[in-house]
Amino acid sequence: MTQTCDAIVIGGGVIGLAIARALARDGLRVTVFERNARPGGEASWAAAGMLAPQAEADAPGPLFDLCLKSRSLYTDFAAALWEETRIDIELCPAGTLLVASQPEDVAALHAKLDWQTAAGCHAEWLSPSDVQNLEPLVRSHGALYLPDDWQVENRRLTQALIAAVAAAQVPIHCHSDGLTLCLEKGRVVGVEVRDERWSAPVVINAAGSWAAQMSANLLGLPARVIRPIRGQMVALQMPVSLRLRHVIRTSQVYLVPRRDQRLIIGATVEDVGYEKAVTAGGVCSLLSGALATAPPLAAASLIETWAGLRPLAIDHLPLIGETALAGLWCATGHYRNGVLLTPITAEIIRCLVQQLPPPCEMAPFSPRRFSASAMVCSDATPPA
Ligand SMILES: Cc1cc2nc3c(=O)[nH]c(=O)nc-3n(C[C@H](O)[C@H](O)[C@H](O)COP(=O)(O)OP(=O)(O)OC[C@H]3O[C@@H](n4cnc5c(N)ncnc54)[C@H](O)[C@@H]3O)c2cc1C
Repeated sequence: MTQTCDAIVIGGGVIGLAIARALARDGLRVTVFERNARPGGEASWAAAGMLAPQAEADAPGPLFDLCLKSRSLYTDFAAALWEETRIDIELCPAGTLLVASQPEDVAALHAKLDWQTAAGCHAEWLSPSDVQNLEPLVRSHGALYLPDDWQVENRRLTQALIAAVAAAQVPIHCHSDGLTLCLEKGRVVGVEVRDERWSAPVVINAAGSWAAQMSANLLGLPARVIRPIRGQMVALQMPVSLRLRHVIRTSQVYLVPRRDQRLIIGATVEDVGYEKAVTAGGVCSLLSGALATAPPLAAASLIETWAGLRPLAIDHLPLIGETALAGLWCATGHYRNGVLLTPITAEIIRCLVQQLPPPCEMAPFSPRRFSASAMVCSDATPPA
């Protein structure tokens, strides 16, 4: 028997869930398919939750603009999720310190200060004693303060999106491995899972690091158009006597303090395929980076380690929109910024599906840039 809906979303991470929620709020009948036993258990769960367009960017450009736009949506996004679900995603506006751990870091941070203030962003240089006053645990040669780079608790964000999708009557079909796309007259018209068929005029591939595995053959995309980049993470439980108030980033590690006194330390950047092991070397480099930045952390308890896979496109830009194959859409490749880019991605897909003008220039992010003629294939090293 064939079931019919208006849109199918493949992948139950923050991107797929936020898209499903946005389309359902517009009155569309949406169905989500998730390969795992539960949604939200991959990169979206593994992330650190930083909303950090300024900390992440090395230069202005379309991705920087997209990230800024998404950051500006977060306050309303968090409030709406609270209204819908009563789940607080812990949006924390304390800001981020980019710490100069070595004297030679200072020049690069000043260069960032210059181009970001010229771009109209807030950024402020802090002397070592300013940093000491703000964050007594941190050793530094000064720091760039980015008051608008915030953080959320991404695991709570995932829970909130699952609850919001449920409240909007969107079914999530888990264990959907083996899902295939249905094609008719050169367009995708639905999906098939274990002999059951769902038809919809819009099928959205939001399968994160696995997105190209599923559709590479159909789209004629190179198999590595999206590839996984492993990030290992460590969590400490801080004693009550130790406290960090801001997100702290150095060239080696970042430290993200949560409301419940956990401290998230991340992250490695490793091109090792679909391998999610936590390694001795990974944990060692994270802990040594963290203790060099804030030596009193040596007293904190190590409570959790994990790893996740960031979806990286070969040109390092996300793919958002309809593909060259009619009916098949794509929302993936968000790499290190998928939590940040969740609200804008959902809004872009909603607008495009509803044939409304998208909230930003979409050409740099169109999946069609990977059509055979447009392809400039590069296997460049992932940006750190
Ligand atoms: C260690 C680490 C730290 C990070 N820190 C940050 C950060 O601080 N800030 C930030 O903005 N971003 C961060 N990111 C990046 C962010 O987590 C990702 O960009 C984002 O979660 C991607 O969301 P997604 O929904 O596309 O992917 P995922 O969360 O991976 O979800 C994809 C889903 O698709 C499912 N799926 C796959 N194949 C199929 C299939 N064939 N059928 C059905 N379902 C399928 C998967 O099981 C999965 O649930 C981090 C990532 C990692 C790994």
